[in-house]
Amino acid sequence: MFKEETRMLLAIHGGAGDKKPTAEQFEIMRKALRAGLRIMKDGGDALSAVVEAITILEDSAIFNAGAGGVLQLDGTRRLDASVMEGAELKAGSVIGIEGIRNPIRAAQLILDTPHVMMTNRGAKQIARAHQLTTLESPSPQEMEQLDRIKKADTEIVRLYKKYFSTVGAVARDSERNLAAGASTGGIRTMLPGRVGDTPVIGSGTYADNSLAAVSCTGNGEQIIRLGLAKEICMNSLDESLRRAASQSLKRIRMIGGNAGVICLAGRGGAVILHTTKYMASGYVTKRKLQLFSRSPR
Ligand code: ASP
Repeated sequence: MFKEETRMLLAIHGGAGDKKPTAEQFEIMRKALRAGLRIMKDGGDALSAVVEAITILEDSAIFNAGAGGVLQLDGTRRLDASVMEGAELKAGSVIGIEGIRNPIRAAQLILDTPHVMMTNRGAKQIARAHQLTTLESPSPQEMEQLDRIKKADTEIVRLYKKYFSTVGAVARDSERNLAAGASTGGIRTMLPGRVGDTPVIGSGTYADNSLAAVSCTGNGEQIIRLGLAKEICMNSLDESLRRAASQSLKRIRMIGGNAGVICLAGRGGAVILHTTKYMASGYVTKRKLQLFSRSPR
């Protein structure tokens, strides 16, 4: 938890796991934080800042989201993303979208429709109508890597626990509006059609100005089973946001999962916590920008 009382704050993550974040990842995260903050400084809202930051992470192709999203076992990149704003509780989410580089932007488009969640077919139609950038087919190297995964690994869970690099963001703008978003390719070894927590409002993402904004990464199945993002938000009514997050992460461990969360309330600093060894994260205010490999104390 940071003692940051400034209203405008954007926090992001680039996944939690066993791998130490690289300098290259930090470089892109710095860029994403600056771009998101710029949006809010120019009068944009928290939702726009979250979408901008996540778009940059998706475009970089070095996180498991957007252009870098992992392939499902049939060689297809099916991407998930969601975004929510805390003033009117509007939310948008895409499940398994194919051929679109920035699923977070597709999720934002859906937020402005009467629907909340859309699967590939409809989501792609909306994304195309708004000329969102298309995504290229997997490279030969990615297909080779997938072949190696298929040959070498039969135990989905083992790899699953090792490597997450989904991206997410939470923001608070000058009006104290909150927003949260997340974007992923899923997990490293997954059956075609598998969906994790990232597009599930209340599990991977939640924002409510009267509670908090939370974005999660980690074992999607356990995060869904707990309804992690909403659970933290609700518990923050009775205890500090930090305690609420740490209690829920204990519960994730109890059901066999690992996770990392970034949380932000209407007042105060962001909470960044994880059960894994590392979590790439960072935050920016008008005064400072900081990046972390592990949760700051
Ligand atoms: N939560 C994501 C999923 O289960 C994975 C991740 O966070 O990297 O799809």
